[in-house]
Amino acid sequence: MQRILIFLSLVLFLACKEQLKETAEASIVDTKEEVQKTGDSFGIVIHGGAGTILKENMTPEKEAAYKAKLEEAIKVGHTILKNGGTSMEAVEKTINILEDSPLFNAGKGAVFTNEGINELDASIMDGKTLNAGAVAGVRTIKNPINLAREVMLNSPHVMLSGKGAEQFAEERKLEIVDPKYFYTEDRFKALEKIKEKPDHPDAKSATSFYDPMIKNSKFGTVGCAALDKNGNLAAGTSTGGMTNKKWNRIGDSPIIGAGTYANNNTCAVSSTGWGEYFIRAMVAHDISALMEYKELSLQEAASIVIQKKLTELGGTGGIIAIDHEGNVAMEFNTAGMYRATMNASGKLTVGIYKEAL
Ligand code: ASP
Repeated sequence: MQRILIFLSLVLFLACKEQLKETAEASIVDTKEEVQKTGDSFGIVIHGGAGTILKENMTPEKEAAYKAKLEEAIKVGHTILKNGGTSMEAVEKTINILEDSPLFNAGKGAVFTNEGINELDASIMDGKTLNAGAVAGVRTIKNPINLAREVMLNSPHVMLSGKGAEQFAEERKLEIVDPKYFYTEDRFKALEKIKEKPDHPDAKSATSFYDPMIKNSKFGTVGCAALDKNGNLAAGTSTGGMTNKKWNRIGDSPIIGAGTYANNNTCAVSSTGWGEYFIRAMVAHDISALMEYKELSLQEAASIVIQKKLTELGGTGGIIAIDHEGNVAMEFNTAGMYRATMNASGKLTVGIYKEAL
């Protein structure tokens, strides 16, 4: 009899334990679903490069063309997010619009190297998984951001470069173009203009090497950061690098942590500016780290990194970023930065110069 009682209590205990586990699991799922149902807070922010962008050097037509393209691009990403798409998809498709436009230094419209060719860099990062993909120095890939995402999803690596990256692109059936596709007259003229001025003999010093172009430079790189309805962050950046670059120089744009960073716990960031400085200051990751370890707000972190750390180093440029709550930062220490943002209610803000938006 005693044995039967012990056996029955054991069965009862196990059954209760199982029930408790199921309830706990159910409540975890409920919480998640609740977050997904009520979490309609999403948003997107983009840049089309920073630099010496002054109103007095701009025609009304040019200004309107830049604003229209920024608006077209951000609306593509916003629609994806509004329809429940992922931040990764929104970032990629938004950047594609900017890459396909000759207005920006990415894809069509990329700047020329010292040898008179175009070498493109791009990177993308998923804040949910911390997965990332990047490509550097590719010459025939129409949309380098797509290849960066492909590297992330379908290779065991984070970063591919040059010929190998192009071979991988062919294997993955990405769109390949003749290098001539990237030719634009304005960018070629910009290279010729820089070459009229002699290169500084001391190529080790980035300051002197890039000096002729920095004084009047526009960094037309493009980037996007997005938060989707499921609370997932993503960021991406695509560029032709810097005019007159030599020796297969690679800037910050394809460097995870410098040009691009995303982490669901903090924020998603895309940088634009003088790449050598952005690499040394680890700009994008630094902003995330200040939020994670010092519990600063996105705006506080962004202004410390851009206005203090980067500026004191001598670097120029800016970032766009969005945090896990949908707050946006657009911080730069140059005269202007092409930028736009759209929130969950569809409010669009577009800016070029240093004005408060
Ligand atoms: N950051 C890019 C680079 O150094 C340039 C840019 O932002 O336009 O390659």
